[in-house]
Amino acid sequence: MMAAAAAAQSDAAVTLLEKNEKLGKKLYITGKGRCNVTNDSDTENLLLNVISNPKFLYSAFYTFDSHMLMQFFEDNGLRLKTERGGRVFPASDKSSDVIKTMEKVLKKRNVKICLNTCVTDIITEAGICKGIKAVCNYNGSDIKGVCHKKKESIVLDADAVIIATGGLSYPSTGSTGDGYRFAIDTGHTIKECRPSLVPINIKEEYVKELQGLSLRNINLQVIKGKKILYDEQGEMLFTHFGISGPLVLSAGCYLVEKDLQYMKILVDLKPALTKEQLDERILRDFSECKNYNFKNSLGKLLPAKMIPIIVKLSGIDADKKVNSITRNERDRLTTLIKGFEMTPISFRDYNEAIITKGGVSVKDINPATMESKKTAGIYFAGEVADVDALTGGYNLQIAWSTGYLAGKSALERSRQT
Ligand SMILES: Cc1cc2nc3c(=O)[nH]c(=O)nc-3n(C[C@H](O)[C@H](O)[C@H](O)COP(=O)(O)OP(=O)(O)OC[C@H]3O[C@@H](n4cnc5c(N)ncnc54)[C@H](O)[C@@H]3O)c2cc1C
Repeated sequence: MMAAAAAAQSDAAVTLLEKNEKLGKKLYITGKGRCNVTNDSDTENLLLNVISNPKFLYSAFYTFDSHMLMQFFEDNGLRLKTERGGRVFPASDKSSDVIKTMEKVLKKRNVKICLNTCVTDIITEAGICKGIKAVCNYNGSDIKGVCHKKKESIVLDADAVIIATGGLSYPSTGSTGDGYRFAIDTGHTIKECRPSLVPINIKEEYVKELQGLSLRNINLQVIKGKKILYDEQGEMLFTHFGISGPLVLSAGCYLVEKDLQYMKILVDLKPALTKEQLDERILRDFSECKNYNFKNSLGKLLPAKMIPIIVKLSGIDADKKVNSITRNERDRLTTLIKGFEMTPISFRDYNEAIITKGGVSVKDINPATMESKKTAGIYFAGEVADVDALTGGYNLQIAWSTGYLAGKSALERSRQT
């Protein structure tokens, strides 16, 4: 949508082909229906939050940064608000208002919108591109248009084609990886794809008992041998299969699935207290309930769902009176609370992944224009390329910035051809 809007800034004839029955199906579910459109921060911060290929995004971010995006929305009547961590949302808290605004801009700029229209193939001067060995001769080949299908197959001639088909995550929204095939068919390399910003399956059966429990202000570490791979404070959530929530999704970005078996996840449930301070706190709690059984003594310290599991893992008799708990036993308890250990098994699949890691190799794309280096006149924008970022509005900013740059560059090309 942003690519089409940017390409349609003068009298160029721009057509947006969307296979769904409406625009922005994924946008609609972003930010839990509120759409975290961007992050209100400077370009250096945007780049710091990109995980794969930040340098490639330099031009795109500088051409259309988050402040230009916010101005674009405000100019087109969408009021915005900024929340914790610079996260920007529509003031109405409705992602549908973002989509409506984009539709309004597209209409104003006379973009022809074709819904229920699935692009099936890319056409270059060499013919319809189907498979690497088919009719296409990439080097020096030029774009001619696309084939798309509504009821019947139609060829649409074009001076430029922008592929903005998204990744593979939440396929029900239309992101089914078609763009990867178009890219392969026209001579591009695809960096291996995998679900990212995705929950993690955990080996320990007892985590199922914690389902629905959300922990705030905890510290989460991912450890491989003696190496700490991730170490952050924030929020996490237990689910029926394992763990999710902001910290877990972010941690997963730095991990490789085949290495998960060698890793441990450690959660410090009381990061504000040292082990000694925690011990003092526990002693104080015990002194206030001297005749209680151990299992009934942790109510002030831990969430209720967590208590039976901590009691069991501590190895302390659940029915032991707190005034007879030994120093050694307390030591085991504080170690457990400061390092609640879990074993990751695997990532959840694309149906639960916020983004797709991998995609069209950035080596095949000119970062100053988003144009393909393999087939002149093809441009890439958004998640289809091998770029991804942390949560906080950064992934949408990648889509807006690369879309804007691709659109602007495609317009430039059409003026020259
Ligand atoms: C649940 C969820 C929540 C998220 N929340 C946020 C958030 O709050 N903030 C944030 O920054 N990011 C968020 N993201 C990530 C963000 O939504 C994506 O990174 C972004 O939408 C990518 O934009 P895109 O235009 O590249 O692809 P998409 O938004 O996936 O759009 C691609 C479009 O191309 C269409 N298409 C595909 N193939 C064809 C074809 N052959 N012919 C015609 N049309 C086709 C699809 O139908 C789709 O409409 C979230 C993602 C998910 C899944």
